[in-house]
Amino acid sequence: FVLQVPTDLGGLGLTNTQYARLVEIVGAHDLAVGIILGAHQSIGFKGILLHGNKEQKEKYLPLVASCENMAAFCLTEPTSGSDAGSIRTQAELSKDGKHYILNGGKLWISNGGLADIFTVFAKTPVKDEKTGETKDKVTAFIVERGFGGVTSGPPEKKMGIKASNTAEVYFDNVPIPVENVLGGVGNGFKVAMHVLNNGRFGMAAALSGTMKSLIAKAADHAGNRVQFGSKLEQFGVIQEKLARMAMYQYATECMAYMLSANMDQGAIDFQLEAAISKVYASEAAWFVADECIQILGGMGYMKDCGAERVMRDLRIFRIFEGTNDILRLFVSLTGIQHAGKRLTELQKSLKNPAGNLGLIISEGVKRSKRAVGVKSGPSLAEYVHSDLATSAKLVSESTADFALTVEKLLIRHKKKIIDQQFLLKRLADAAIDIYGMVAVLSRASRSLNNKSSTAQHEALLASVFCDEVIFCSIHFCFCERGSFAQMRRAEVYIFNDNTCVLISFLSSF
Ligand SMILES: Cc1cc2nc3c(=O)[nH]c(=O)nc-3n(C[C@H](O)[C@H](O)[C@H](O)COP(=O)(O)OP(=O)(O)OC[C@H]3O[C@@H](n4cnc5c(N)ncnc54)[C@H](O)[C@@H]3O)c2cc1C
Repeated sequence: FVLQVPTDLGGLGLTNTQYARLVEIVGAHDLAVGIILGAHQSIGFKGILLHGNKEQKEKYLPLVASCENMAAFCLTEPTSGSDAGSIRTQAELSKDGKHYILNGGKLWISNGGLADIFTVFAKTPVKDEKTGETKDKVTAFIVERGFGGVTSGPPEKKMGIKASNTAEVYFDNVPIPVENVLGGVGNGFKVAMHVLNNGRFGMAAALSGTMKSLIAKAADHAGNRVQFGSKLEQFGVIQEKLARMAMYQYATECMAYMLSANMDQGAIDFQLEAAISKVYASEAAWFVADECIQILGGMGYMKDCGAERVMRDLRIFRIFEGTNDILRLFVSLTGIQHAGKRLTELQKSLKNPAGNLGLIISEGVKRSKRAVGVKSGPSLAEYVHSDLATSAKLVSESTADFALTVEKLLIRHKKKIIDQQFLLKRLADAAIDIYGMVAVLSRASRSLNNKSSTAQHEALLASVFCDEVIFCSIHFCFCERGSFAQMRRAEVYIFNDNTCVLISFLSSF
């Protein structure tokens, strides 16, 4: 409970990477325990850690680090899940201006029935200084159960993570001292998103641990079970399953630790990487659990074997802390903003060519290179070990193609791109694949450079991962994942030795 609380406030003051190492171990054993820990520190009191002022930190962090006060994060409501901005819980300032009076109810709160300290998001009337208009905005509050008027419902009966308490939390005229506003009045939405972004690396690390234990279970069974006179591990189909499970685990681990290391080095713009890691990890772990059960056969279906519990526990990871669907939209819409800005700049420059010659020439060169088939993606040669040069080239080419795709879509759909979820989802899938390739190449290169004992194995995992993504996954995305039969017309480009990659659709279906 004390992992990331600073040492002078009674905690261990662990870095993100150290935290990740520990939750990876927890994830290997019991995801419900992981949720208890995560709901407490990854989201429950993370707001105080990130946005609390000195007094708030000094008052609350020693309490939550003492293990006597569990924390919880209260955002979701019956009518507000993915659409977090639509919450109805209200906090009104009292007449004497000393308290906010909180009323409302929150749904499915992890640790909700046990926590004493809550980070609660509520709507408060905020006056716009410029227009004089008053509007409801989300504000974050630190709420103690002891303030009075805080009650919780019975533990929810769930599919999985049964050891983790999930409950409704009600607020009935709860008086919150004004000092307990967290991150400023009206800034609650920003606080909520910052907390969620900041905690996502932990999820990827925990699931990486879960995958490791599933692979160990499957490998153990495959090494002992004999059918048709041979051990299962001698059959190619089983070998392929285990290899792919290991590769997905490796990619997840690479993403989790690349992210935590970047955060430890002070990166502040990591929201896309965090979202990608959560999406990738939760889907990879689901695949690995499914294949583990398949390798175990009927045994995998039995409760005693333990894999079915992991599968039930895993299901929630694609739903909470931002559903994977919403996070995919977030990745693509946030990502294309950069391209959108660049295009707008170029448009403006073209109106005044004399004053913007540099930008116009460099864009012109880039575009003419593309027109004659010369890719202008970033060169990764100086970062990637020479043994992985072929994979690095594929990544830079797919990055260039990706940029071109985004630009084409923006030109075609302009602001209406936000309604093109069919396309946005596929852009996000491509972004996830590209980020995954970069993460595995980065880690495998480091191992090769350090002559680590696992380097050759890692290089193999990384290069097969890149090959699969380029030659199968993107192709697969085009051919099998979507219901393409419903589409009237789609543009397809031939990319990297006849692999079809989806570039753009001309009309919706
Ligand atoms: C076990 C458990 C623990 C939880 N713990 C917490 C907690 O500690 N604190 C907390 O605040 N919340 C918690 N939650 C709530 C959780 O974060 C929400 O369930 C989640 O955000 C999704 O909201 P929802 O269930 O209302 O689904 P909805 O938002 O209703 O979404 C339903 C489906 O529609 C899709 N969808 C929604 N909008 C769009 C769109 N615009 N475009 C495309 N698809 C869309 C979603 O992806 C999803 O597939 C928990 C939930 C569970 C089940």
